[in-house]
Amino acid sequence: MKNILIALLMITSLSAIAQNDSYQFYANLNEVKNDKLHISLKTPEIKTDKIIYNIPKMIPGAYTIDDFGQYITEFKAFNEAGEPLNITRIDTNQWEIDNAKSLSEITYWVEDTWDADVENFVFEPCGTNIEEGENILLNNHGFFGYFTGMKNYAYEINVTRPENFYGSTGLTTRVTNGNTDKFTTNNYMDLVDSPIMYNIPDTTVFKVGETDILISVYSKRKNITSKLLAKDVKAILELQKDYLGTLPVDKYAFIIYLFTPENKTISTGALEHSYSSFYYNVDAAAEEFIGPFIGDVAHEFFHIVTPLNIHSEEIGDFDYIHPKMSKHLWMYEGVVEYFADHVKVYGGMITPKEYLKVIKRKISESKHFNDELPFTELSLGCLDKYKNQSDNVYCKGALIGLCLDILLREASDGAMGMKDMMNKLSDEYGKYKSFKDEELFDKITELSGPGIRTFFTEYVEGNKPLPFETVFEKVGVEFKQNVKYTAFSLGFKSLTYNPETERYVITEKGMDEFAKDLGYKINDELVSVNGTKLRQSNLRKVWNEFKTYAKEGDKVKIVVARKEKDIYKKIKLKASARTIEKTKKYVVKFNENATDEQLKLRKSWLGQE
Ligand SMILES: [Zn+2]
Repeated sequence: MKNILIALLMITSLSAIAQNDSYQFYANLNEVKNDKLHISLKTPEIKTDKIIYNIPKMIPGAYTIDDFGQYITEFKAFNEAGEPLNITRIDTNQWEIDNAKSLSEITYWVEDTWDADVENFVFEPCGTNIEEGENILLNNHGFFGYFTGMKNYAYEINVTRPENFYGSTGLTTRVTNGNTDKFTTNNYMDLVDSPIMYNIPDTTVFKVGETDILISVYSKRKNITSKLLAKDVKAILELQKDYLGTLPVDKYAFIIYLFTPENKTISTGALEHSYSSFYYNVDAAAEEFIGPFIGDVAHEFFHIVTPLNIHSEEIGDFDYIHPKMSKHLWMYEGVVEYFADHVKVYGGMITPKEYLKVIKRKISESKHFNDELPFTELSLGCLDKYKNQSDNVYCKGALIGLCLDILLREASDGAMGMKDMMNKLSDEYGKYKSFKDEELFDKITELSGPGIRTFFTEYVEGNKPLPFETVFEKVGVEFKQNVKYTAFSLGFKSLTYNPETERYVITEKGMDEFAKDLGYKINDELVSVNGTKLRQSNLRKVWNEFKTYAKEGDKVKIVVARKEKDIYKKIKLKASARTIEKTKKYVVKFNENATDEQLKLRKSWLGQE
């Protein structure tokens, strides 16, 4: 038995030595010059006279055109004897090489996107970072390319690094020899899918179910550490595991880069992959950081359901040079965003009442976009024509997921919700089997019932606003618009904040009817309300106390700072408290008199069975 094993091992290592059927890349992180990294490639055997080398124009999940080829300089190609071969740069992202049958090596330099001087800035989680001796982010599509027709060849990436650096990644194929890490993937798609962040490590590892979780944080300030995040990340992942039934990966890495806002533009966000997600965020105070970060974690992690395990051909066989969009961003982003909120109520992390507030916020955010644009059209045009509408995938997209969840539960008498539907689709398709863009709506209908097809036709392919009233009614939730009511007021509906003076500011649009009683002027800054100094930390408290205890005729005393000739003067304003008519744009609340049937469906929806 032992001998056979050794023989097998020898065969594998011999075939690895032959190596003319794989890409072998080399990068040395110790040799950064002018903020650029040198890349060399031992090429696989080329069987045509000419060949095109490609660096992506766009990558999956980004939904923007980034032209990563623009960061490549001094592109050279050589034959076995080290003689240069003729090259033609066809466009920003493509190089054609002559005498390709003799091609042996390609070399070039890569400049990082994060601090590049370009007009269309690459969203950081999709981009690349070279900070010598500090942090190097290998979003691999920015450094390594592929030959046309040869995306399915194996890849070997050899990275020589500073001794104290560690490369955090979701890849499990690392072999380390001295200061060189070798990573291998089966094809280009898997390489692009697996970013590697190099720096002096701050990592924490733990298990959720059978899955190994890595949290890796880079932060100069070290305000937020991997250890600090571990407890909350574990808590949300446990809920996500229960929600999905299982975590469908053996290892998953949360790779996090935190910056200090003084020296960067404030654009933050994350990008999902099959075995990792990358986060670019402000190194803020822990209590401000954790809540939104855990929301991002829930969203990015749920992407392992879709598009990573359920996707159309446009995504499954991604064209990095001529990207084609799919019609189904409502699912890839919308359903994922819905799950990220819904898992919290379903798993008991937030109450049903708090969850209705989340829904209300999504509804009012979605109404800032064009509600009559068919969602499938938005999806197809998100790179260009409907770029300014594309953020609606996180708002209306999530609400489409919500409506479908309730409708699916209704059609199956509570047995099958959206997450169960996604499980069925994942069984039907999966990471390596794409659906045809055209067939998805019919497939979901086939797995549920004909009513669902009507919903898709009217509200996803069609231009009708989502039918909240009828859908929410099924679970005993009331939805109303423009509801009039009376309440006490302090003269403003909304405020802006002046960080220099640390005071809230009265604006023209933010004033209500009671503002006249008080005599506010535009740009007045609020100093105190009934003797209490107003700060960012107590605005809500002051407002809640006032509206709870105010009685008709009470004296309302407000001190404002009013700027006159560049000098702030404190001015006392007075009025008698009175109620005024206000309008609530949207009301979403539980119906106290819901029927047994509505309650049954509500319990199924909120996971209270
Ligand atoms: Zn997303």
